[in-house]
Amino acid sequence: MTQRIALVTGASSGIGRATALLLAENGYYVFAAARRMDRLEQIRSDDIEPIELDVIDEDAICRTVNHVISTKGRIDVLVNNAGYGQLGAIECVSMEAAHRQFEVNVFGYVRFMQAVLPHMREQKSGRIVNITSVMGKISTPGFGWYAASKHAIEALTDAVRGEVMEFGIDVVLIAPGLIKTEFVPKQLELLKTVAHPTAYQKIITGLYALLVNEPTSPGPEIIAQAVLDATKNSSPPVRHALPLDAKMAVAARWLFGARLFAWVIRRQMKF
Ligand code: NDP
Repeated sequence: MTQRIALVTGASSGIGRATALLLAENGYYVFAAARRMDRLEQIRSDDIEPIELDVIDEDAICRTVNHVISTKGRIDVLVNNAGYGQLGAIECVSMEAAHRQFEVNVFGYVRFMQAVLPHMREQKSGRIVNITSVMGKISTPGFGWYAASKHAIEALTDAVRGEVMEFGIDVVLIAPGLIKTEFVPKQLELLKTVAHPTAYQKIITGLYALLVNEPTSPGPEIIAQAVLDATKNSSPPVRHALPLDAKMAVAARWLFGARLFAWVIRRQMKF
């Protein structure tokens, strides 16, 4: 049987790394992409090939997909995962930081979809798994730009799914809640770079209080398993939120409405 070929972005840590390893364990040949090559080298094997790239570099993405096709002849699965969270109050996050958030989290995903879709259309098959977030359906104080980027991915995914289903291609979303990776420590570092007037101090303290719960959250393996399931299932759910609190947060927003939900979140974040 022909070996199935996957391309995973953000594979140097967290969810992407766990996904690359699990797909390889399950028979895939995996192209594992990220910027930190030293971290990618740690997972190199007969079935995992590291690729150094920045998702804002369109030429590097085209070269990577051309390399996949020229060496393996096909691409079965794209896992769009590379991303980070720009925290900070909307009034205070610089436009430069906001643009960068979209460059990586939104346009990075789109660049990869544009690069692989012609090949998937030609082979009349393919599966794209876009990693979004619980913040793809809700938005809470301090998470505005990150939530906006993930809402954008959800909208783009729903659009592209309808555009390519006739070519045998399926595009699905996996929406994690809080998962223990490098994500939260990096978010907190970025938050420090945003200058907030003292009027916002309660919100900043609340963000820290919320995110220090992260050590009790599950590891990235549960999301990797969901990705593997999404590649194996002939008709996977179009949006799979996990763990359970990621589903409950979206249900609460729907049940409470925007104002009551904002009030509940403010209470939870203790401001
Ligand atoms: P990590 O910080 O552990 O991993 C992020 C990965 O993205 C790294 O491999 C990093 O690699 C890569 N990356 C970041 N920026 C770029 C870039 N410009 N070009 C190429 N690669 C880049 O976080 P997670 O594993 O947790 O995050 C993975 C995805 O899951 C993200 O899309 C995130 O939004 C989403 N998510 C995470 C949640 C969580 O609680 N952990 C919750 C909800 C969603 P490198 O720095 O080497 O380039």
